Amino acid sequence: MKILFVTDLHGAEWKYDRLCDIARADRPDAVINSGDMLPKGDNLFRQNAFITDVLDRHFARFDAMGMPYFCYLGNDDLRIWDNLFDETCRKYPCIHNIAQRKASFEGVSFIGMNWVVDYPFRLKDRCRMDSPDYTFQPQLGTGLLSTPDGWTEVHDWPGYARKLPTIADELAALDRPECMDQSVYVFHMPPSDLGLDVCVNGQSVGSRAIHDFLAANQPRLSLHGHIHESPEMSGAWQAALGDTRCVQPGQQDDEFAYVTVDLAGMTIDRQVDFDLISIGW
Ligand SMILES: [Zn+2]
Repeated sequence: MKILFVTDLHGAEWKYDRLCDIARADRPDAVINSGDMLPKGDNLFRQNAFITDVLDRHFARFDAMGMPYFCYLGNDDLRIWDNLFDETCRKYPCIHNIAQRKASFEGVSFIGMNWVVDYPFRLKDRCRMDSPDYTFQPQLGTGLLSTPDGWTEVHDWPGYARKLPTIADELAALDRPECMDQSVYVFHMPPSDLGLDVCVNGQSVGSRAIHDFLAANQPRLSLHGHIHESPEMSGAWQAALGDTRCVQPGQQDDEFAYVTVDLAGMTIDRQVDFDLISIGW
């Protein structure tokens, strides 16, 4: 099975168009889009327009090609749009929202999770402690959670987060695949300790709980995103964790990074295309 994988497109329409062109030319068996799908601009409360307009048309194209497409929203996509996103996916038989869900296709299980380990930034819609002994990073302000009426401010974010399930809890609650060797885990958050989680300041912020889950369960493949600059910082966009191959292609604003995987032979390639318009061609 050939998989085409992208992550962190953040509403860049030229990247969605490029993804569609590549899929049409290369005919992968499945496409995976690992979150942060919507524009990050100044008004996140208008992200719904992108779902009903651009994303709906994008999904319709893949559905017309009969190409399975597994996806979910990410930490910069407000949780108030989860229902709209799910309804939009459900319009098309080929489109599958795999946030905290398993979907199976041709004997392969695709299992998604879009919670992330807490960070200093204020938007906390999908943030969790990694495990019960997690130490919070210094915060850039009070926490913010989206509601249909605007932001709710959380003054004691660590106190609030301590009452939520941890990433380790969320991983334990996921559906199990029929066979780990025929499973693909899709986590927006990268694992720790593999060089797939290095921020621009050099700090490694990956999830220890995800690392330990993958080490213990040994799926065939795990796909990640979230830390856009990590491949440039660490020099690594893939790593082996026992028999599991872990991939984090990164994503820069003026480039389109994507990965192709042939699950049978485990051939994994990363491509980075430039936006010819933005570099003046
Ligand atoms: Zn992102």
